[in-house]
Amino acid sequence: QVAPVAEELGRRFRDAGFRLALVGGSVRDTLLGRLGNDLDFTTDARPEQVLKILRPWADSLWEVGIAFGTVGAMKDALDGDVGRSFQIEVTTYRSEAYDRTSRKPEVSYGDTIEEDLVRRDFTVNAMAVALPEGDFVDPYGGLDDLAARVLRTPGTPEASFSDDPLRMLRAARFSAQLDFEVAPEVVAAMSAMADRIAIVSAERIRDELNKLILSEHPRKGLRLLVDTGLADRVLPELSALRLERDEHFRHKDVYEHSLTVLEQAIDLETDGPDLVLRLAALLHDIGKPKTRRFETDGRVSFHHHEVVGAKLTKARLTQLKYSNDLVKDVSRLVELHLRFHGYGSGEWTDSAVRRYVRDAGPQLSRLHKLTRSDCTTRNKRKAAALSRTYDALEARIAELQEREELDAIRPDLDGNRIMSVLGI
Ligand code: ATP
Ligand code: MG
Repeated sequence: QVAPVAEELGRRFRDAGFRLALVGGSVRDTLLGRLGNDLDFTTDARPEQVLKILRPWADSLWEVGIAFGTVGAMKDALDGDVGRSFQIEVTTYRSEAYDRTSRKPEVSYGDTIEEDLVRRDFTVNAMAVALPEGDFVDPYGGLDDLAARVLRTPGTPEASFSDDPLRMLRAARFSAQLDFEVAPEVVAAMSAMADRIAIVSAERIRDELNKLILSEHPRKGLRLLVDTGLADRVLPELSALRLERDEHFRHKDVYEHSLTVLEQAIDLETDGPDLVLRLAALLHDIGKPKTRRFETDGRVSFHHHEVVGAKLTKARLTQLKYSNDLVKDVSRLVELHLRFHGYGSGEWTDSAVRRYVRDAGPQLSRLHKLTRSDCTTRNKRKAAALSRTYDALEARIAELQEREELDAIRPDLDGNRIMSVLGI
């Protein structure tokens, strides 16, 4: 069943003498029963002609992607549509491979939908529904792959990843979002061609990483990045965790621990997916491999690994072109995630507690979630002890905050002030 708004647009294109088809993520997500209000279309009309058709119909238009053949529009839902409004993108058939390496956007347009579909990333994204009739177009077996929950490229994965190496990250991202497996030949090509990701801009890499990390199954996508060697290029600190062992070769799997902390942090989210919390959970221990080890009565401890970790976090996220605010927030959480350990042993004065709250700032509730997720994975007795410590600290914080709120209400007059006001 095609959305009425899509059908109406299809009639308008047909009446103007063009073809229009719903394509890509919209078709895939409709078949998976998870359609949002993004609609992607492909057409044989050129961008100027697309503009002419959309202008009188859409509620608003944007042309930022026009050099790549894409016109964007917003349109209110029609009777029978789900949701209130649609974000629409209409892209002219492409014929050649994406060329993201040249600075000038050069696009060559195609004449057939098959040609357009073959240069898409995965078969499940290379299905279309011709409008307004609703005929299903699936030349590369996308429906079978969707049923088998597998990601496969329409052509050979080697050719596809040479055209646009970002697709290797997109494979990991979709496997995490959809909980699909990546076909073995695609995984093999990812491993063989991982180096090529170097030509992709940091912004495009960051955007895919975000979608992966914000997905429902980030462990799956992250594992694929590490296993194929892609993580060595985009997030080397994560791969390094896998090699982390203590000096006595007791395997202390910081890598598995980090993935688990990420999942536990996700379980504690209260207002939907939280990128800052998720990045902090994933990266909280990345200082360990680089940190000098000290022997303390037979046990190995890491000297201030959270300080090193905060620096590495800052450097990596800056390099990936994250905003200054995000970099600051995530690295602050990494830096603070162990400070509460001191609370159990010595007595924390009120000012130490206040400093903890002040240093966390608006991150306090995230810091609570991060430390809770970090506590629960260690050995059971240690985990329980750490939890109790944090319970005590949280109670202390709450008590102090309550007290200070009362202080703020109480008039700020003492005897000296009264005497000076009254002149006595
Ligand atoms: P979502 O919008 O949920 O992220 P999507 O599948 O719509 O998922 P988009 O990045 O919006 O993904 O791209 C829309 C469609 O364009 C894809 O389904 C795919 O067919 C095609 N596409 C996007 N990026 C690429 C790429 N780098 N290489 C090949 N095809 C691509
Ligand atoms: Mg999309």
